[in-house]
Amino acid sequence: MIQSINPATGQTITSYQSHSADEVEQIIQSVDKRWHQWEPTSFEERAELMQKLAGLLRQKKEELARLMATEMGKVLHEGISEIEKCAWVCEYYAENAAEFLKNEPINSDFSQSYVSYRPLGVILAVMPWNFPFWQLFRFAAPTLMAGNAAVLKHASNVPGCALAIEGLFRDAGFPDNVFRTLLIGSKQVEAVIRHPAVKAVSLTGSTPAGKSVASIAGSELKKCVLELGGSDPYLILEDAELETAAKTCAAGRLLNAGQSCIGAKRFVVVEKVYDGFMKRFTREMNNARYGDPLNPESTMGPLARTDLRDDLHRQVTDSVKKGAKIILGGEIPKGEGSFYPPTILENVKSGMPAYDEELFGPVASIIRVKDEAEAVRVANDTVFGLGSAVFTSDVKRGRHIAETQLQAGCCFVNDFVKSDPRLPFGGIKESGFGRELSRHGIREFVNVKTVVVK
Ligand code: NAP
Repeated sequence: MIQSINPATGQTITSYQSHSADEVEQIIQSVDKRWHQWEPTSFEERAELMQKLAGLLRQKKEELARLMATEMGKVLHEGISEIEKCAWVCEYYAENAAEFLKNEPINSDFSQSYVSYRPLGVILAVMPWNFPFWQLFRFAAPTLMAGNAAVLKHASNVPGCALAIEGLFRDAGFPDNVFRTLLIGSKQVEAVIRHPAVKAVSLTGSTPAGKSVASIAGSELKKCVLELGGSDPYLILEDAELETAAKTCAAGRLLNAGQSCIGAKRFVVVEKVYDGFMKRFTREMNNARYGDPLNPESTMGPLARTDLRDDLHRQVTDSVKKGAKIILGGEIPKGEGSFYPPTILENVKSGMPAYDEELFGPVASIIRVKDEAEAVRVANDTVFGLGSAVFTSDVKRGRHIAETQLQAGCCFVNDFVKSDPRLPFGGIKESGFGRELSRHGIREFVNVKTVVVK
């Protein structure tokens, strides 16, 4: 059984029967069969369907945002933006896939030589619950536009979203079985990766899940793309514009109730501006209003599951035992639902969970440093390497630090890190490998085929 539970109330919404091994086998075979008919379709045919899908997403954005609110606690306005972004990524690849994947002539000693980008077949997506639509669409739009077919294993707490996504592809007019949802738990993923029809896997999720999937895929010599956790550092330098920095950092920490891989997590503040930044940042964090995600007044909903909320609280209390100081929040509120308040931890040091681990919720770790050199050292003192940001009024200095000093897949100057269909997205170190979005994303699940004519 896979259950949908409303995290704001703890009530079970619906229970779904998981797919049996036989059903999984039958679905994968159907998707593989369909892929052989989908592969020869033109970019124009695929683009037309992708545009229809974008239109359908825009049409249903309120309904889908309500589904996310009740299944994983996202506030309505964030849910609506998420669905609009899914429509954008569908349009983006509908418009650009043919250009990104057109044949590339290469000068050589032969009469003709060129590269052709060919689809691989059925690709498995293993996805997390935090952006239940966006994570999937940023995988599916390029993957299907490249001529692949896909099966989805979504996180077990968002089966309603998983089935709604399958329905959207069907209602947009995609041929049956180009995209299917598997209702399975994480233990059944191994058999799907090992299935001969499945040619590659994309996982977005935690680092332990990434390591497990990568080792299975590796043993089958199947390609994988891994978008894993992060503990993004935000550097506040002595020449930062503090009001903007404080507002942007708080927004980057509280988006999606802090449950974002590229959420702002560790704030590394140079001592000269420490007090000025903290006064403004604390005010901004304190302004958040958490509550029922269906209430338009709420700026933040509950965390997606009670066990995740309790894990986060354990990370906070363990850090406090090791010397961190709570200056805002840090208490589980009374009443139903898996709520957690905006929290700030000061005096965070190496050896504490708030320094060493990912905090997947609205908790900010503050680290005070002497100067830029120490800020860069602390920023890179992590197993993760997903996003990062630097706040400075000297753009040249900001670009230098962003481009050459910070070890991360992307670095923003004077803004919080966001994904965008036009920009490559992904990490280094334990944040994974491979890229999604942009022209780089659509080239992950293709055969870069060399064609030569003597
Ligand atoms: P998770 O527990 O790793 O789950 C992610 C997905 O992987 C779920 O579908 C889960 O299935 C499945 N899974 C878990 N363990 C697995 C295993 N051993 N083998 C195969 N599949 C497995 O992560 P989460 O709690 O849902 O999401 C939060 C994490 O995702 C955070 O670390 C966050 O930073 C990361 N994330 C990264 C990105 C990025 O782009 N880099 C984006 C969003 C989130 P079940 O639900 O059935 O367990």
